[in-house]
Parts: sequence; structure tokens; C-alpha cells
Amino acid sequence: MLKARNIVRNYGNLPVLKGIDLDIHQGELVTIVGASGAGKSTLLQIVGTLDRPDGGQVWMDDTDVFALKEKELAAFRNQKIGFIFQFHNLFPEFTALENVCMPAFIGGKSPEAVIKNRGGELLEMLGLKDRMQHLPSQLSGGEQQRVAVARALINNPAIVFADEPSGNLDSKNAEDLHQLFFKLRTELRQTFVIVTHNEHLADLADRKLEMADGLLRL
Ligand code: ADP
Ligand code: ADP
Repeated sequence: MLKARNIVRNYGNLPVLKGIDLDIHQGELVTIVGASGAGKSTLLQIVGTLDRPDGGQVWMDDTDVFALKEKELAAFRNQKIGFIFQFHNLFPEFTALENVCMPAFIGGKSPEAVIKNRGGELLEMLGLKDRMQHLPSQLSGGEQQRVAVARALINNPAIVFADEPSGNLDSKNAEDLHQLFFKLRTELRQTFVIVTHNEHLADLADRKLEMADGLLRL
């Protein structure tokens, strides 16, 4: 489903990714671990199409993503890819439901009522049925991050990338979030690639990849 070949990225004279190959299959939950500064975020940004590599190619479902023009790539990303970050980046002036629906409103394909219905279903599945009309500031850290998960799923993405999604949560909320990822993987066959320092999550994954010195060790 996702195939990356010989990905190279340099920041100035600093080689950060030195020719990475990566294959992700439908329905698997893969973790990427490694020391701070190893290049995990840089890799995730590239396979997530947010940043272009200096060399190499990424295919997603037969699309050569960096062959797309910027505008086509933005539309492709909106439809196919979900993102979850360490800090949820919810819009403070919008409700949980509005935040969840935002990527679908931007994509602009379905009627508003259909989108809101799906957003509501997602929030309910994530245990936030009675939090839909709350503002982010009225939610706990764990709840905010679950809203961010629902937002990542609203367009039914082929793949979800998460960069330290539990890095800002206490251990109980982190554990709950990890359980949620496995539930979505098992029940929806949702594909996840997760950068994490959490050893428990890394060890439970279908596959754990380790980054060191600009390369992935399988
Ligand atoms: P990780 O996610 O494993 O902590 P990063 O991908 O964030 O690693 O960073 C890898 C290396 O690239 C680090 O040395 C970091 O300082 C450097 N780096 C990351 N982003 C930039 C940038 N935008 N400009 C210059 N250097 C960067
Ligand atoms: P993490 O380790 O969680 O990936 P970082 O602190 O490495 O986070 O990076 C946070 C942001 O700062 C990223 O967008 C990254 O691209 C940027 N960044 C990291 N290192 C550098 C750097 N040396 N110069 C410029 N930008 C950087």
C-alpha cells in the first residue's frame, strides 16, 4: 500500500535520511523507534507527503506521490492520509465536532449533514458522544487527543501517520490511546505508522522499525 525507495534527505550538509526503503501493508500497525534526532519525524513528514525528499520515491496505492503537482498532492493528502501529532493542534474556537469535520469540509465532496453525521459516529466510537459540542479547552488532554484521532479518520484515509501521539499524555491516557489504535486496526483494518518513544506501544505493534544513523533497521 505504501512503498518508499531510497529516500534521501539532507538539511544543508547534514545527511538525515541516507537511502531509506519502507513498505507498509494494509491493516498493519507499524511503530518507528530510535534516539532523538535519528530522523524519525523527517521520515514521517516525507512518507506523509508533507515534505519532499532530496532523492527517492514514494508510492501510495500505485500513485507516485512526488510526481504530483503541489495542488494535486494537497488533494491526495487530504483524501488518503490522516495525521496525529504530539500536540493535538485543534482549533480552539471550534467545537470537537467541528474540528473533527474540518478535513472533510476542506475536501469539499460530501454534504455538510453527511460529514457531521460521520463525525458524530466517530466521536461516539471513540467514547466522546457527550463531548461533541465542547470546545478543546473544555476537554481533558486525553479527550483532546481522541478528538485529534477522530479528525485523522474523518476522510476514511488509507493510512494514518502519528508522531509521538502519546508523548504529552500521562501513562493512563497514553495506554488508553494505544488501546484505541489497536481497536481501530483490528475493527476497521486501519493502517497506522506511529513514531513513538513508548516501549510498550512499540513492542505491541505488528512490526517495530528502528531508525539509527539515517537508516532503518528492520
Ligand atoms: P527525530 O524525529 O528522530 O527526533 P528529526 O527528524 O526531528 O529526528 O531530526 C533529525 C535531524 O535533522 C536532527 O539532527 C534535527 O536537528 C535535524 N532537522 C530536523 N528538521 C530540520 C530542519 N527543518 N532544518 C534543519 N535541520 C533539521
Ligand atoms: P521531535 O524530536 O519531536 O521530532 P524536534 O524538536 O526534532 O521534534 O523538531 C521540531 C520541529 O523543529 C520540526 O518541525 C523540525 O523539522 C524542526 N527542527 C528540528 N531540528 C531543527 C534544526 N536543527 N533546525 C531547524 N529546524 C529544526
